Amino acid sequence: MLFLFILGLCIGSFLNVLIWRLNDEKAPKFWQGRSICPKCKHSLAWKDNIPLLSFILLNGRCRYCHKKISLQYPLVELLTAVVTVLLATNFISLLTAYCFIVIFFSDWIYGLIPDEATLILLIVGIFLNWNNWLIGLLALLVLLSVFLVTRGRGIGFGDVKLIFPLGLLLGWPKILVMFYAASIMGGGYALFLLVLHRKKFGDTIALGPFLIIGTVAALCIKDSLLSNLWWLFP
Ligand SMILES: [Zn+2]
Repeated sequence: MLFLFILGLCIGSFLNVLIWRLNDEKAPKFWQGRSICPKCKHSLAWKDNIPLLSFILLNGRCRYCHKKISLQYPLVELLTAVVTVLLATNFISLLTAYCFIVIFFSDWIYGLIPDEATLILLIVGIFLNWNNWLIGLLALLVLLSVFLVTRGRGIGFGDVKLIFPLGLLLGWPKILVMFYAASIMGGGYALFLLVLHRKKFGDTIALGPFLIIGTVAALCIKDSLLSNLWWLFP
């Protein structure tokens, strides 16, 4: 258990590298060189690079430039560790969860969804639930029409590509649960930003994180609860 947790922290540290290097064009490619501070580019010693622990010991600041280290780093490490402990017996679920983490934070921070993660989800979806292809296709068409009507300002094309594998994973009626959950949380968050004047009406927010939370919620929901929610589904 402790071993799994520590392994999870290390994988989380790797996911952080992916989130940065897959999305930031200025970042070095992930197979090049050693870890560096994204702010001052100073290369990091092993003691600056221990997942979670370094963040705590350095008080959340870079040892060299003293700029704040983004909370994303410990958060992704901790989340990955918890997920690794919970899903250790199921490799496919674990892989899916890692993709979810990468997509969530990539879209949240950079407004991008890396194709690599979507592709892995697509392969998992085809492998597990290819017979949900029609659901995936319908969901894709819904988002594609939103994308075309808003001329790409409402949602990004990354979201359109992502929805097909999510549809495969979810199937009917969980895809609807996902849409409900994503719109309630996305709408609530948008309202929250409007009230706080952090955003203006008409500004866009990243949809990907809400698609991911919605999918996790829909996957976790029990079938018995689902049958009690029948009235939600026309
Ligand atoms: Zn630095």
